[in-house]
Amino acid sequence: MSRTPAETPPMTAATDNDSIAAGDDTALGDRIASQIRSAGPIGVDSFMATCLGDASAGYYQHGDPFGVTGDFITAPEISGLFGEMCGLYLAHMFELAGQPQDAVIAELGPGRGTLMQDMRGVWETLMPALAGRPIHLVETSPALRRAQAALIAADDSATTTPEIDWHDSCDSLPNAPIFGIANEFFDALAVAQFIWRGSAAQGSWHHRLVGLQGNEFGFVDGPALCGAELADYGGTLPPDPADGDVAEFCRAGDQVIAALAGRISQSGGAMLIIDYGRNGTAGDSLQAVAEHRPVDVFHQPGTADLSHWVDFAALSRSAATHGCRLIGPVPQGRFLMRIGLAQRAEQAALHGEADLRRGLLAAVDRLTSPAQMGEVFKVALLVPQGVGSPPGFETDTPSDAGTNTGTDGSA
Ligand code: SAH
Repeated sequence: MSRTPAETPPMTAATDNDSIAAGDDTALGDRIASQIRSAGPIGVDSFMATCLGDASAGYYQHGDPFGVTGDFITAPEISGLFGEMCGLYLAHMFELAGQPQDAVIAELGPGRGTLMQDMRGVWETLMPALAGRPIHLVETSPALRRAQAALIAADDSATTTPEIDWHDSCDSLPNAPIFGIANEFFDALAVAQFIWRGSAAQGSWHHRLVGLQGNEFGFVDGPALCGAELADYGGTLPPDPADGDVAEFCRAGDQVIAALAGRISQSGGAMLIIDYGRNGTAGDSLQAVAEHRPVDVFHQPGTADLSHWVDFAALSRSAATHGCRLIGPVPQGRFLMRIGLAQRAEQAALHGEADLRRGLLAAVDRLTSPAQMGEVFKVALLVPQGVGSPPGFETDTPSDAGTNTGTDGSA
């Protein structure tokens, strides 16, 4: 996920010429290969969904990919400051909404549960009314559900024992005011790809599929998009494409926003959505990371993390269609600084040893500097329709100009 490994994963991990032997890898790779042999090439989205979510061998099903010993590090695993700031932010939105008594907390793709634990820590001190609300976690991985239960339900430092429900998808979330967060969740949802064939003047968009070239996985062109598909993906497909241009559409992301927006438009609430991406399609952004390094997207299916750049403009269209507003995105660095990360880090460092101070400063730099997570990662907020900009999303002022490189995530 721009999975912050030591190295930055490439925007494009594989090209049409890149391929990898289907048989030299994993049982899951063999299974996908025989499916393709018998039924033909499959969508990039179904390849990605199987590699990540297959019940027996999917990437997220069998372990803990996070942290220094895993494949990548996410913001909550870098520093507790990240979760504290997000917790403070949601507490502010909860207060603005009049502290609804039927509010629930939600997190999509909670990983180890670190972010929720850190947010709850802040609420217990500063917003007990929120700390006492039921927690709904959308998580498909049994291994990570266990990790979340251990960290959140069995948190010795917590004074309240939360009621926790796990969900396979957002469709079963309650229709109540939802205050929640999704950090590096949308990039893990399966993305479909389309490829333009022809000249700029005359050509057509085709499905981009995963097929077999001999014994090796590779990209192949599928059928041209029909009229209904062109209408459906119209907002995503860039104008004036050249031969070989790729566009992406994440149906699953669209559906998640639809489910959340349906509830938030009726009952209220606020969801923070944080991910790497841009305000539009990123072209071919599918990428794979294994053991801290970028690898080919066909590398040993099930053992590498596959992800894509989130198209916030597409999420925003889905939010509007379902009666909500997606505010932003703004770069993560600017958002965190605007809501007071630097001050909180200084406060935390006040009574600490030099080592602690150095650690906090390094964490602030990692989370906010444009060369690290500050620019590529974006923050957006899903809220009911209305006007005005909540904190962190104010229209840019001249004082932002120094760090303002736009909301476009192209690195
Ligand atoms: N938010 C965490 C973890 C991000 S990794 C952090 O910031 O550290 C992505 C998370 O989403 C994992 O917990 C993974 O198991 C979960 N996930 C991936 N695809 C999912 C899906 N389709 N439905 C529900 N959870 C999913």
